[in-house]
Amino acid sequence: MTSQKQITNTIETLKTFLKPLRKTTLNREAKDTKNYSPYETLISCLLSLRAKDETTEKISEKLFKIANTPKQIIKLPRKKLEKIIFSSGHYKKKAEAIQHVSQQLINNHNSKVPDTYEKLISIKHIGPKTANIVLCFSFNKNVIPVDTHVHRIPNRLGWIKTKTAEKSEPALMKVVPEKYWSDINGLFVLFGKTTCVPISPFCSKCPIQKYCKRINVTKSR
Ligand code: SF4
Repeated sequence: MTSQKQITNTIETLKTFLKPLRKTTLNREAKDTKNYSPYETLISCLLSLRAKDETTEKISEKLFKIANTPKQIIKLPRKKLEKIIFSSGHYKKKAEAIQHVSQQLINNHNSKVPDTYEKLISIKHIGPKTANIVLCFSFNKNVIPVDTHVHRIPNRLGWIKTKTAEKSEPALMKVVPEKYWSDINGLFVLFGKTTCVPISPFCSKCPIQKYCKRINVTKSR
């Protein structure tokens, strides 16, 4: 089992390595999350499923200029909403999800986004990752939003041994010191897109190679 000291060293090394890149990305994230209401963060998150960050950003901005409250989103004709979000992919499913979630917020939460995990995931179309992103970025809660990168990399490193992203969150909370929980998502998403990519990671130029057990890595560059 990886010690907390080793995990701390790994995270600190990654922070230094990614600092120049994070400046740009975090500026964007900060801009997004500071300027976005919890409702906008939630909708942006629903739009981001299987879409590129840049695309999500553009479409979110376009949509929020037209409608950025549950009532306004509900009033949009479905076809119009589908047209606005078309380029995010899976636009029909996403339009349905966005309007369903908005209707639930109106019906059951006084048109507000709830700030607890249980209430968030009780709404259809809101999964653990979306709930944790909203809690982390809109309500400053100390949680670990787990996506494909945050699931894959700690498994490769040997910190955890989990089969699904849902199981990775509680497993990470057991081994990662709490002060790093809110950093993990930003670090691993960026690292997973640039170095520890899903297929054939760049292990030869990886700054944390000496800490990595490279579990299930059969091909690398
Ligand atoms: S050594 Fe390879 S598998 Fe391990 S973290 Fe670095 S890039 Fe990923």
